[in-house]
Amino acid sequence: MNIINEKISLISECSSEDLRIERSRLCCDIEESTLEGSAFIRTQLKGAGFVENDIRGAGFLQCDLSGASLEKCDLTGAAIVNCRLDGMTIDGVSVHEMMDFYKNNHKENKTMNKATRKAIIAGNWKMNKTRPEAKALLDELKGMVADVKSVEIVACVPFTNLETALAATEGTNIRIGAENCHFEKSGAFTGEISADMLAEMGVEYVVLGHSERRQYFAETDETVNKRTKAALAAGLKPIVCVGELLWERECNITEEVIARQIKLDFFGIEADDLKKCVIAYEPVWAIGTGKTATADQAEEVCAFIRATLAKLYGADVAEAITIQYGGSMNAANAAELVSKKNVDGGLIGGASLKAADFTTIIKAAENG
Ligand code: PEP
Repeated sequence: MNIINEKISLISECSSEDLRIERSRLCCDIEESTLEGSAFIRTQLKGAGFVENDIRGAGFLQCDLSGASLEKCDLTGAAIVNCRLDGMTIDGVSVHEMMDFYKNNHKENKTMNKATRKAIIAGNWKMNKTRPEAKALLDELKGMVADVKSVEIVACVPFTNLETALAATEGTNIRIGAENCHFEKSGAFTGEISADMLAEMGVEYVVLGHSERRQYFAETDETVNKRTKAALAAGLKPIVCVGELLWERECNITEEVIARQIKLDFFGIEADDLKKCVIAYEPVWAIGTGKTATADQAEEVCAFIRATLAKLYGADVAEAITIQYGGSMNAANAAELVSKKNVDGGLIGGASLKAADFTTIIKAAENG
């Protein structure tokens, strides 16, 4: 039955499985009717009362339902979309109150998950900054972020800057990390730095398996795994980078690539040690290219990493791990990225070299 442009004053004991009421005005009560699957479109239902109706699967689209009441109706599968709802009640409960309650609870759940983890914003300076430049940047940064409490701030700097960085940040809320370490404790490895050497200096974090190391210095999942174990043994907190190449994403094997990296990079690492690690999801195509993954793409892969960890270590462990996004994160896009449920901060290259930009990202993570 199609009712268009009508003024209806009573619907009672009606039984219509495909009633369609459009652009009509219902100044009435609808009682004991079967309106299953009906559609109400752009219909004025202001103050209407629905009592003991079967409204299963019905749709209300762009209707004015303000002040309407639904009492003892079966609303299973019904949808109310883009309607005015002020003053509307369902079984005496205000729909606005219900929606507020839902929104608050939803937000709480989202932040509760995140609250069990530490948001970490880490800068990866790469091969940049002399010692005076490093000191100047950290001196500027520490003033800007002195009030930040809920985010762990890390600066991962070249080996030559470690001592300067440690001195410049002493007593502040900025932690210092290195950009790599070797897996052996000591020996004939010219040009390399061991995890123990870093730990002895007071360094806390170390970036491992960065795509630039994988790409230019022949790092493999096997050496990343060995380096991660060495870093843990020295008491460092590894930030282990994983991420797919553009070609791999285009071939739809992102999840396979990430699962493989997670399994290999953390092979033989027990849950207690895993909890000391941070994982940075860095799609290789987004690093230093100005191409950022969308917040949804970042969330999708970070959630996949967490699900993979849950299979390997259990849900509790997976929930505790900080998973960062990295890849052209900047002052403009950080807030959206870190607002995602499974994105617990970021590993930031270029934007970490400017104190103001890095601070904006840190503050976004505080609110994320
Ligand atoms: C990085 O070096 O880890 C990185 C994400 O770089 P950028 O932010 O410059 O893309």
